[in-house]
Amino acid sequence: MARYAMVIDLHKCVGCGGCDLACKSENNTPDHINWSHHKIKTTGKFPNVQFSYTPTLCNHCEDAPCVSVCPTKAMYKDSEGFVLHDDDKCIGCKACMLADPYNVIFFNEKQAFIEWTDSQPYTPWVRSPKNMIDHLNVPVPFYNPERSKTYAGIRPKGVVEKCSFCDHRTKAGLDPHCVVSCPANARIFGDIDNPTSDVHKLLTRYRPSVLLEEEGTKPKVFYIRSFNRASI
Ligand code: SF4
Ligand code: SF4
Repeated sequence: MARYAMVIDLHKCVGCGGCDLACKSENNTPDHINWSHHKIKTTGKFPNVQFSYTPTLCNHCEDAPCVSVCPTKAMYKDSEGFVLHDDDKCIGCKACMLADPYNVIFFNEKQAFIEWTDSQPYTPWVRSPKNMIDHLNVPVPFYNPERSKTYAGIRPKGVVEKCSFCDHRTKAGLDPHCVVSCPANARIFGDIDNPTSDVHKLLTRYRPSVLLEEEGTKPKVFYIRSFNRASI
């Protein structure tokens, strides 16, 4: 059985945010919910200033604290190492969010995309949000029927959600959408245990780092090299 992981080559990353946009369009995440995100840091004093950009997402940890604390097994680990979430079992207790040191689990306070049920146009002469959705014949904006194969198309109020490593794509033999959308090929996905996989080769070639290693969660998102040429 494969054990999947992602490598992010920070030297190749150009900090464009394309991965964040790709995730949003693939998984139609609502405002303020960003499964794929980034941290930016500026250090030093002009003219010796350094900027760094670190893409972030759920780390699909080997020892995932969000899984071990979940009272209903809504957050679970599948046989290939993905940390996944079952909306139907979630009671919205947020224990997973408290246990997660990476802050990559999000709570749906309200029915997502509720604003698209508004039948009043925002200005005259344009379609109302509801009319637009009816016209396009989709349940929500940017609806992705592919994603609905593993997750509900419309996320319910009162449950949590997080990055799924695009399991609807990977189970079909495709890479996550953030990986195929990266213009710099900085994101690499594959089976960590397969010696012929690019992920395995890169982790052998470079000395990888993970976020918050001291938490002991054994993340499966690895970073290699550096955003700054000077510190490769
Ligand atoms: S799309 Fe690729 S190059 Fe752009 S920020 Fe994401 S990882 Fe970096
Ligand atoms: S919010 Fe849902 S997934 Fe998180 S711990 Fe509670 S039941 Fe489990």
